[in-house]
Amino acid sequence: MVNPRIKSLSAYKTERTSARVKLSSNELSIEFPGDVRKRIAEVLSELPFNRYPDPQVQELKEVVAQRFGVRTENLMLGNGSDELIYYLSVAIGDQNRGIFYPVPTFSMYGISAQVFGRERVEIRLNSFFDIDLEESLRLVQEKKPALAYFSYPNNPTGNLFSEKSIVSIRSQGVFTVLDEAYFHYSKRTFLKDALEREDTVVLRTLSKIGMAGLRVGIMIGKEEVIKDIEKIRLPFNITYPSQVIARLMLTEFYPLIEEEVERVIRERERVYSALLSMEGVEPFPSSANFILFRTYIPADLLHKKLIEKGVLVRNFSYMEGLEGCLRVSIGKPEENDAFLEALEGVLKEMA
Ligand code: PMP
Repeated sequence: MVNPRIKSLSAYKTERTSARVKLSSNELSIEFPGDVRKRIAEVLSELPFNRYPDPQVQELKEVVAQRFGVRTENLMLGNGSDELIYYLSVAIGDQNRGIFYPVPTFSMYGISAQVFGRERVEIRLNSFFDIDLEESLRLVQEKKPALAYFSYPNNPTGNLFSEKSIVSIRSQGVFTVLDEAYFHYSKRTFLKDALEREDTVVLRTLSKIGMAGLRVGIMIGKEEVIKDIEKIRLPFNITYPSQVIARLMLTEFYPLIEEEVERVIRERERVYSALLSMEGVEPFPSSANFILFRTYIPADLLHKKLIEKGVLVRNFSYMEGLEGCLRVSIGKPEENDAFLEALEGVLKEMA
């Protein structure tokens, strides 16, 4: 029989509706040119996929290490950072000590805690979506969680939490994970701490910079910490195609990605200003590749009407504290225009 704890889980929600303009999953909207695709096809056609891939993922690790300015010994790779979140939730601290995270945030922290039967120590973010430090410290002292997750910047609110608050919570003896999935859009990091301290690791991912389908997540930490967590990694968790495609993308084709990332950052400011100027729309400032916004129109209805106009965004209005909120990923300029036009259209129709 299935464990009741697992039976009562609500699985990770993904948006499966298809739409002409997909701005729902914080992917990088990028079309790789023909020569890039041709090169990948060539490399894949040579791939001895009847064999297991390199279990240590050494060649890809070397490229990642170089890109992120660390040593390969500081790296552990996962099948997406989702897999690394699972590993952390099982590897860090005694199982009867809880897992702390501010909410609303990325749902995998809570899901992994539930999967492993650990107490979810949740604290509501304040009205600026920042950490309520006083309440957090009180809760940490009371519940004594062993592990804390901070999405930095936070998904889905888009802001960076106060560094001082994160450091204060960590100083209570809590192993701290900085989930920097959106690092390329924020350029802010705790990397130095992760390399120097035994109570801190940083998570990154290739998913938000054009490679979501490859499923490559990255953990960065001190060699000793990485060595221990590596012991629970499933063998061959990074597939052969992912290893070789990611390596090509991070070397030969990286300038292409960098260019698109910078464009998204510029587009983010343009979309934010456009939302700000719309009556009845309240966008929240973002350091990521998406923007959360609140409207006076019922969010479910707005979400549906945008789909009818061919634009898919993510509806977060079901989350406590995010009533009336939708999240739009920043895409190509023409996709962002399509979104802004569709939103303006719906607002006009509903006025
Ligand atoms: N962390 C955060 C904060 C995210 O938003 C996401 C993706 N939605 C992930 C981790 C998971 O990323 P990956 O594709 O690497 O599993």
